[in-house]
Amino acid sequence: MNTPDNSIQSALARRQRVLAPTYRLFYDDPIHVVRAEGVWMYDADGRRYLDCYNNVPVVGHSHSEVVARIADQAARLNTHTRYVTDGPVELAERLLGTVPAQIDCVTFTCTGSESNDLALRICKAATGGTGFIVTNGAYHGTTETLTGMSPVTGAPTGPGVQVVEAPLGLRNPDEFGVRVRACIDAMRLGGVKPAALLVDTIFGSDGVISHPPGLLKPAVEAIHAAGGLFVADEVQPGFGRTGDCMWGFQRHGVIPDVVTMGKPMGNGHPVAALLARREVMREFATRYRYFNTFGGNTVSCAAALAVLDIIERERLMENARQVGDFLMMSLRDLAARHSMIQDVRGAGLFIGVQLDSKERATRVVNGLRNRGVLIGSSGLGFDTLKIRPPLVVRRAEAELLVEALDRTLIEAELRDPRKG
Ligand code: PMP
Repeated sequence: MNTPDNSIQSALARRQRVLAPTYRLFYDDPIHVVRAEGVWMYDADGRRYLDCYNNVPVVGHSHSEVVARIADQAARLNTHTRYVTDGPVELAERLLGTVPAQIDCVTFTCTGSESNDLALRICKAATGGTGFIVTNGAYHGTTETLTGMSPVTGAPTGPGVQVVEAPLGLRNPDEFGVRVRACIDAMRLGGVKPAALLVDTIFGSDGVISHPPGLLKPAVEAIHAAGGLFVADEVQPGFGRTGDCMWGFQRHGVIPDVVTMGKPMGNGHPVAALLARREVMREFATRYRYFNTFGGNTVSCAAALAVLDIIERERLMENARQVGDFLMMSLRDLAARHSMIQDVRGAGLFIGVQLDSKERATRVVNGLRNRGVLIGSSGLGFDTLKIRPPLVVRRAEAELLVEALDRTLIEAELRDPRKG
């Protein structure tokens, strides 16, 4: 009898035979994961890895309540939003309860990309403009239009798109507004009318820029004064990750015209949404219908409702703040001992540790993987370690991460002392 070959080499070869060559794997030594629970992922050999990278399983991998509620709903009814069903309505009510009252209606999609792409269409219809402003390290999604608004991918900038330098290292919160105003001027000079400023409110792919709080306010005022709208892309910081509030924009004291969300919304189940002011939606809704077959289906809504319940009941935002504060403090201690750490930034459980080169960051990410701790990297120069564990991570697990990072940094310094 043939025994199945579970080796990573054979799994990789089989994958490469059938998956398109567009895919990239994490880590020099890829991991063949077969199951996950809480903050732990397990490979085919039973080795466990501390997951400090995944902002999708926000309430922990395989959370039993999410699993049970998906299964229960799937066994009763799964249909779309062209019937009157209770799930999407209840979920819309719950989501609207987390944002300022001006934002008063919800559209469901399946991915962050769909939400952002829809946001562009809504902003164009509402303003009559076609110009968008994004940051120089932005990532906003996979559609052709959004690729032209995602400079971090290396794709060419799309028509009507102005790229503003991300607010890294700014002390004065007014400075980002000055930069956005310059983009608006350049746009108008090119004969383009502004439609919106589109920003990831934690600047995840720009290298995690969390401070100073309030830095978005002058920029939002600038786009409003120019007749444009502000779209808060909450795909990364949303659902309590920053520890202070449910949404990243709330840390900056601004009220968006459109809010897009996805990733953690279904704890891994593909569900996403766009929230907006009804008056912003009006022109788009008059001209077009929007129907998304799977967006807002009853099973996806059950998953998202379970996530909201668990975040509240398990006080995960509070946990994000407490464990996040501990991590920030510990990482700053590490920075005092390791000169390759240039900066430690972040809020709650969204943390960036900037190193002195991309090569070092890549080596540390791979070194940590070999010690059983999973993180990633980001930033324009890919020199920033990106740390985003599920919000159920506890202090003891955060300590494991810090210890492993300390040892990995020592190892990296020994291998390449010139920069140490
Ligand atoms: N916006 C941001 C800020 C993102 O990080 C991502 C995904 N990484 C997206 C949008 C796109 O989301 P999705 O992959 O669900 O289409």
